[in-house]
Amino acid sequence: MDFNLTEEQLQIQDEIRKICREFPDAYWRDVDRKREYPEAFVRKLTELGWLAALIPEEYGGSGLGITEASIILGEINRCGGNSTACHAQMYTMGTLLRHGSEEQKRRYLPKVAAGELRLQAFAVTEPDAGSESTRIQTMAVRKGDRYLVHGQKIFISRVLQSDLMLLLARTTPYDDLKDKTQGLSVFIVDLRESRGKLEVKPLDLMINQHTSLLFFDGLEVPAENLLGEEGKGFRYIIDGWNAERILIASEAVGDGRWFIERASKYAKERRVFGRPIGANQGIQFPIAQAYAHVEAADLVCFQAAAKFDRQEGCGAEANMAKFLASEASWEAANACFTTHGGYGFSVDYDVERKFRETRLLTIAPVSNNLVLAYLGQHVLGMPKSY
Ligand SMILES: Cc1cc2nc3c(=O)[nH]c(=O)nc-3n(C[C@H](O)[C@H](O)[C@H](O)COP(=O)(O)OP(=O)(O)OC[C@H]3O[C@@H](n4cnc5c(N)ncnc54)[C@H](O)[C@@H]3O)c2cc1C
Repeated sequence: MDFNLTEEQLQIQDEIRKICREFPDAYWRDVDRKREYPEAFVRKLTELGWLAALIPEEYGGSGLGITEASIILGEINRCGGNSTACHAQMYTMGTLLRHGSEEQKRRYLPKVAAGELRLQAFAVTEPDAGSESTRIQTMAVRKGDRYLVHGQKIFISRVLQSDLMLLLARTTPYDDLKDKTQGLSVFIVDLRESRGKLEVKPLDLMINQHTSLLFFDGLEVPAENLLGEEGKGFRYIIDGWNAERILIASEAVGDGRWFIERASKYAKERRVFGRPIGANQGIQFPIAQAYAHVEAADLVCFQAAAKFDRQEGCGAEANMAKFLASEASWEAANACFTTHGGYGFSVDYDVERKFRETRLLTIAPVSNNLVLAYLGQHVLGMPKSY
């Protein structure tokens, strides 16, 4: 059992740090204030091939594992950035890789790897279904060699920044199904050809996340853009959940480390009542406790990633990693905020920005209650709670 990063992994971490130095706090503060997409940062990562880490070499990527992908995303957040701006390309691509035909993979993956196409959007959530994805209503009806899509999605990120989007839609009405996990299908939507049939309404959120409400009004999707088999889409989505949860967990660990580094630095420097505030247990202990929780979450995260990379079942570990890391990061965020006193509210200290950003990870892409429901039911064998 070796918990140390390999030479190659340390090198990846180092390379990411170098890139992040070109995009310091002021850069993230500025895009956050203007609610701009961090285009220059994402372009740089793409150009250097980091967002193609999980694409196999035969399709132009670097064929790295989820462990290395976690190091990349985690380090971005640790350096003060926000990987949610671009993380989806890593796991969205996995659905195409696992379930797409050879022709689809050859058509899209090399261009995604080369940065010629962006696949940063995945549309699942709907207003009336929420966490119950098998209840989605957006309908794709086959007409000859195409599907016509009607319906609505909410909270779909980076649609305006992507060329391609994966779409989960219903191909069999809910009431006609015995098994409610069937009857959903995944499509590759070419957003460049969707004008007039897909309305995108950006949502105003408390974080700089480019997330929209989508209205499909007869959007045509060529039948050749169906991924895998019709009606099996929910299974394909579930297949991607472990990777997604591990990557989100690593981002939360990165955030947690950022908060702890900032908090402990400030606690040593800020003097009140004639001594550093970090000399007070009320300041020191919450930081130390959050540190212990973040580092423990990181170990579970690496355990999940190692199992994933060995192609072993890792549902329990991936879910625990997502839960533990997002909660630990939120704990660290609060400790860091308290440590900064009134300055925590000052935009110039970046604490309030990271505080807002890391809160998301307890809710999306899956809320922690649903993660606990998975552990309770599928790992511990208790009755289904919902
Ligand atoms: C910034 C942002 C970006 C997003 N990006 C995307 C995206 O790109 N693509 C996409 O498809 N979706 C995206 N989402 C949607 C996200 O995945 C959902 O918000 C999330 O899954 C929760 O769904 P909901 O908001 O409908 O909450 P609901 O399902 O309405 O749940 C509300 C609350 O009730 C709790 N709850 C519900 N059912 C149960 C239960 N049975 N037991 C216990 N608690 C329960 C939940 O845990 C939650 O706390 C994004 C969301 C946000 C905020």
